[in-house]
Amino acid sequence: MTAATGDTATSTLSIRDSRRLVIKIGSALLADDDGNLQIDWIDALVADAAELRRAGTEIIIVSSGAIAVGRRLLGLARGPRNRVLRLEESQAAAATGQVRLAHAWQDALARYDVPVAQILLTTEDTEDRRRYLNARSTIATLLKLGVIPVINENDTVATEEIRFGDNDRLAARVAQMVSADTCVILSDIDGLYTADPGQNSGASHVAQVHAITPEIEAMAGATSNEDGSGGMVTKIEAARIALQAGCRLAIGDGRIAQPLRAFDGDATCTWFIPQGEPQTARKRWIAASLNPVGTLVVDAGAAKALVAGKSLLPAGMVRVEGGFERGDPVIVRDEAGAELARGLSAYSSDDADRIRGLKSSETEAVLGYRGREEMIHRDDLVLS
Ligand code: GLU
Repeated sequence: MTAATGDTATSTLSIRDSRRLVIKIGSALLADDDGNLQIDWIDALVADAAELRRAGTEIIIVSSGAIAVGRRLLGLARGPRNRVLRLEESQAAAATGQVRLAHAWQDALARYDVPVAQILLTTEDTEDRRRYLNARSTIATLLKLGVIPVINENDTVATEEIRFGDNDRLAARVAQMVSADTCVILSDIDGLYTADPGQNSGASHVAQVHAITPEIEAMAGATSNEDGSGGMVTKIEAARIALQAGCRLAIGDGRIAQPLRAFDGDATCTWFIPQGEPQTARKRWIAASLNPVGTLVVDAGAAKALVAGKSLLPAGMVRVEGGFERGDPVIVRDEAGAELARGLSAYSSDDADRIRGLKSSETEAVLGYRGREEMIHRDDLVLS
């Protein structure tokens, strides 16, 4: 064991306690070697997910398997299953398999009267702030409406340079995007080992990781698995993204019965545990990594509300300086010029200028669309 790992506090690590849970499911669980969908497995997983949801956990599924299923449907599965497809072949397979996959999730969840929404993302949707904010609010809206979003990479349009290529990192980015508190990666291995367990009888399972150290990276490099395109290395990358976002992440074997429940019981898995709550980490990210491009000057009432932990509303804004787009980082100052906070603006500078001083209920008439009530939501705001 290293300083970054340990076995304490396992009792606090319950999937049942999750407020917002991202479940990533690897191709190897969803399709057999011939690309046939594992409907029974999906049904069993959905039964557990539906139960968690009834108990109040919001659920997002990141499902692989489109390429594995699609290549069979297109007759590209002949020969060894792992024949590497050309990019355009995998894109064609993904486009075909995704329809089948989405239907399978829809059918399984319909039994519990849970509506499903399909979301296909590329890296650009998570890197570009405006698209990121759009995707984030769409997912938040779906969750509020009781939907389970089923997400995959938009393989059909993602070229080599802009691909995630693996759904491990995609799942972690989604978890970060929606401020999930838990991300579970269901794979065909029960977590991280100190060495490749297939090759080294002395390899021991690592139950908890608190930081992604070079030592942990080296362990990942030594652990092989057959799960789709992501091995343990991309799972550790996913864990790094999740930890930075304050989201705990578990890697476990999805082939066991009722894996989500089993991890709360005796089944082994590896938990990656962040140091802070999601919001704290997100705010740390806002405070640390932004280069503000504009300024919002606010009145004394708004300044007081911000200090009390409230969002910034258009009504409290007296002046807008600089040119910025929705989602850009801005500084909030009082009328004397003192910096109060930094945050991500929910409106462009032009629109902000048009709605400054207005009540939130009045902004739609001025803008011609219904935007967010807040100029900067408190989740996107850090006091200076
Ligand atoms: N997006 C790919 C698919 O649906 C899966 C990537 C992965 O296996 O991680 O087939």
